[in-house]
Amino acid sequence: MKNQIHNFIDGRISESCSERFAPVYNPALGEVTAEVALSTVAEVEAAVESARKAFPAWAATTPLRRARIMNRFRDLLEQNADELAKIISAEHGKVHSDALGEVTRGLEVVEFACGAPHLLKGEFTENVGTNIDSHSIRQPLGVVAGITPFNFPAMVPMWMFPMALACGNTFVLKPSERDPSAALFYAELMNEAGFPPGVFNVVQGDKQAVDALLEHPQVSAVSFVGSTPIAQYIYATGAAHGKRVQALGGAKNHMVVMPDADLDNTVDALMGAAYGSAGERCMAISVVVAVGEETADALRERLVKRLQALKIGPGTDPGAEMGPLVTAQHLEKVRGYIDAGEAEGAELVVDGREFKMQQSGFESGFFIGGTLFDHVKPEMKIHREEIFGPVLAMVRARDFAEAVQLINDHEFGNGTAIFTRDGDSARAFAHQIQVGMVGVNVPIPVPMAFHSFGGWKASLFGDHHMHGPEGVRFYTKLKTITSRWPTGIREGADFVMPTM
Ligand code: NAD
Repeated sequence: MKNQIHNFIDGRISESCSERFAPVYNPALGEVTAEVALSTVAEVEAAVESARKAFPAWAATTPLRRARIMNRFRDLLEQNADELAKIISAEHGKVHSDALGEVTRGLEVVEFACGAPHLLKGEFTENVGTNIDSHSIRQPLGVVAGITPFNFPAMVPMWMFPMALACGNTFVLKPSERDPSAALFYAELMNEAGFPPGVFNVVQGDKQAVDALLEHPQVSAVSFVGSTPIAQYIYATGAAHGKRVQALGGAKNHMVVMPDADLDNTVDALMGAAYGSAGERCMAISVVVAVGEETADALRERLVKRLQALKIGPGTDPGAEMGPLVTAQHLEKVRGYIDAGEAEGAELVVDGREFKMQQSGFESGFFIGGTLFDHVKPEMKIHREEIFGPVLAMVRARDFAEAVQLINDHEFGNGTAIFTRDGDSARAFAHQIQVGMVGVNVPIPVPMAFHSFGGWKASLFGDHHMHGPEGVRFYTKLKTITSRWPTGIREGADFVMPTM
């Protein structure tokens, strides 16, 4: 019998009764290694019910005690980081060092959430009127849900649940059905850390489970990360059911290279940002905008050399820099984009479709080589759409203003970067660009845990970014209390609007 992956409800593994299962692959081997339950509506209801029952006691637990449990989880996560990275790499395909990096970025949000007592401090004003004081507090929402993508099975859920739990909510996670094991692994660690049963639940599944969460009257808020069409759907459906929603969508991230940039450093940065994790990152650089023909030619020459030396292999190979894509279906999609780029007349400089895996045992893995297009035009499909693979498109811009316009005209606004030695250009770029996260000589400007993560335009639907101060705002309701204590002086009834 195949290895089956189930749910985690009420503090323990809960076997699904579903008749529907989906295959889970090891992308480096190209083989099915397990099957994951696609939970029924009743199972989603059981998870929400468990979270609902756990909520009052968890909300009443002091922030300090919640933080102590979070701290124990933090330690366990650190001790088990290597094991968790192996689990991620086996189902996602990313190389081990990259998977470890993802765990560290998730752990940083857990560390931030350990500051719950400080994060939840309210505000107080003495004497807003004569003998009247005002204070505001932030209270938890109740049961909240997270729906997450395949590309960061640990980090993205950890953008959500540590913040939600620190604020006193209880949580139901619906991870990606493509790499579902990581969530069960950290759910067990959370149990060991002392989170009471029901505070954190995992339901595996697909659209059916997602819809059950979106429609459930006991779910107060939904955090989503994934592709733009689904993000839009989650936002609209969740809001129509009266929920608070933050839905982060897809991306197409541009890096502008100015003629004065340090090209060797720029190319180092580009290689990691475009081809790391096989381009399956929402902050990956997928378009390089070279300002001036000379910059473009010099970049291209260096990139070709580096691409020829790119080490592609399974996640278990310590020398590998880039692993396979997540599924055979996704591999076909990425190959299709390379076909489309060629058909639309972009110049295919390095063709990843020619890559053949030589390592014995991995010949059927979902590998593709790094790809570079030059002379890409803004209207081409490979510039307009998110490919989510190791395909870098070079657009040649006449000047800085044209580069900025190209980015500002794009549908997505997740991340972007400029490489330059000139403070003037860097400042103008940061000021003018219509993108949520901006790097200056930093290729992947993912904000640290104590700042907040989120894009603009079609990369985010909703009002709040994730983690950091925005995470606290999203997972709490603001209440303002105005109080007066009897002073022994009677003022009589007053029928006009109080003006203090
Ligand atoms: P996806 O949209 O296919 O899936 C995301 C989640 O939605 C999964 O849990 C999936 O089960 C669920 N889902 C899929 N189809 C659904 C439907 N029709 N109805 C309801 N739920 C559905 O995304 P993916 O392929 O897993 O992840 C890659 C995408 O995520 C890329 O577009 C990437 O840019 C994006 N992403 C964005 C960010 C960000 O911060 N903006 C971060 C990571 C990934």
